[in-house]
Amino acid sequence: MVASMEKKEKQEKDIRVLDTFIGFYCRSKHKSPKGVLCEECKGLLDYAKLKREKCPLDPKPTCKNCHVHCYGKLQRAKIREVMAYSGKHLMLRGRLDLLWHYFF
Ligand SMILES: [Zn+2]
Repeated sequence: MVASMEKKEKQEKDIRVLDTFIGFYCRSKHKSPKGVLCEECKGLLDYAKLKREKCPLDPKPTCKNCHVHCYGKLQRAKIREVMAYSGKHLMLRGRLDLLWHYFF
C-alpha cells in the first residue's frame, strides 16, 4: 500500500511540474494570461498527463533512457521544446527546485 501511495505522489509531482513548464511556456510564447492555456498547450498537457498516468514502468526511468518511447513523434518534439524553453528560463530565475530531468 505504501508503495502505491509513493507512486501516486511521484506521479502528482511530475504532473505539477508539467503544469508549471507548459504554463510558463504558453504565457511567454503564446501570451496567454496566467493560469490559462491556449488550445495547443492544453492539448499537450492533457496528452503528457495521460502518458504519465499510464506509464507502465515502475520506477519510472527518465524518458531519455526509456525503451518504450510512448510519446508520438509530434508530441515528443513539442514537449522537448517546451521543456528546453521553460527549463532554461526557470533555471535563470533560480527555480532549480523545478528542474526536470525527464527530457534532457
Ligand atoms: Zn500555448
